[in-house]
Amino acid sequence: MTAVTTRPNLKYEILEKKGARTIVEITALLKTRFARDSGIVYCFSRKECDQTAQTLRLNQIKADAYHAGLSDSQRTDIQTKWITDKIKVVCATIAFGMGIDKPDVRFVIHYSLPKSIEGFYQEAGRAGRDGEKAQCLLYYSYKDMHRIRSLIEFGNDKGSPEAIKTHIDNLWRIVSFCENKTECRRTMLLNYFGEKFDRSQCRSRPGTTCDNCSIQGEYKSVDMTALSKEVVKFIGEKCGNSSNSSWATNFTANHVIDVCKGSENQKIKSTGHNSSNLHGQAKQFSRSDVERLIRKMTVEGYLDEIHVPSRDGIVHAYIKTGPLAPQLMSGNAKPVPVADRASAQLQFLVRTPEVSAAALARAAGMVGPPSQGAVPLDPPARLRFCVPTPVVLAW
Ligand SMILES: [Zn+2]
Repeated sequence: MTAVTTRPNLKYEILEKKGARTIVEITALLKTRFARDSGIVYCFSRKECDQTAQTLRLNQIKADAYHAGLSDSQRTDIQTKWITDKIKVVCATIAFGMGIDKPDVRFVIHYSLPKSIEGFYQEAGRAGRDGEKAQCLLYYSYKDMHRIRSLIEFGNDKGSPEAIKTHIDNLWRIVSFCENKTECRRTMLLNYFGEKFDRSQCRSRPGTTCDNCSIQGEYKSVDMTALSKEVVKFIGEKCGNSSNSSWATNFTANHVIDVCKGSENQKIKSTGHNSSNLHGQAKQFSRSDVERLIRKMTVEGYLDEIHVPSRDGIVHAYIKTGPLAPQLMSGNAKPVPVADRASAQLQFLVRTPEVSAAALARAAGMVGPPSQGAVPLDPPARLRFCVPTPVVLAW
């Protein structure tokens, strides 16, 4: 790793990854905001690289896939075409970009969660080497964490138990980075590498202010300690810790969220969880806020998830109490002896009812606040979008 710098010309933005709509959104961006620009779309797998490049080509975007499944000469050919601007977009696995010094890369899009903060910093850092403004967009979905974690734990080339632990710790850190909606992205990145950064510097450059510094005021802080204790108590009683795995104790995070929201679905009635104290305790919050709370509690160690492969090879994630659950329950406000982990108070942010300009812009189909030069996406009716196979798009 070379010296870590603030890269003031890069704009970092984490966007919600919404299934099949995401590729529609990326296509629209490449046809509007980045219509004349060169960039990289990082994908999860060789297959995803191929499919993404094919979809982009069908939409008249000069794109190609780059991954380890190609021959050396094919890879060299694609690099050359990209460097000489014969193709605009490379859809690549992480191997792409090392040793290539193309100065005018205007965007790096992560279509899949990077495996670590170092990985994200390096890959995103391939944008804007000429010092001109460039965008680093990361489409984040918690589901991607499960995909990567399954590979780490059950993949063909999984490493030693120590290596697995390191990979999973790295994964939690990047999940935590993506889930964070308050701290400056630059401050978080530099702190990770042991450097300090004053966020006022991020706000002082409106064109490249990070997403979190741009949406100040959209969220308010709420103390969720009481609800979090109810969640831990419920999970402790019904699911146990990570050493408990059985038909009777394995429940998904979604099930717990349903209980929090007061759902009366069949599973909740059949398990009798509608008579638990937790049932309906988070009715006043949106489902996505409750999902974020459960993820935050997992990332911070109050909850845990175990992965269990089924006979048909599908890996299921079940929720359990985490190693720091006792600290939360005892209300011990002293710092917990785990670096960078939580104190026993759980501050949590929920969206304020006042709708901000940024939220309005997003609702109107623009990416990023209009004050920062966001380009409206084409209205759905005018956006011609092609997919290689019959894919149903709820656009
Ligand atoms: Zn910032």
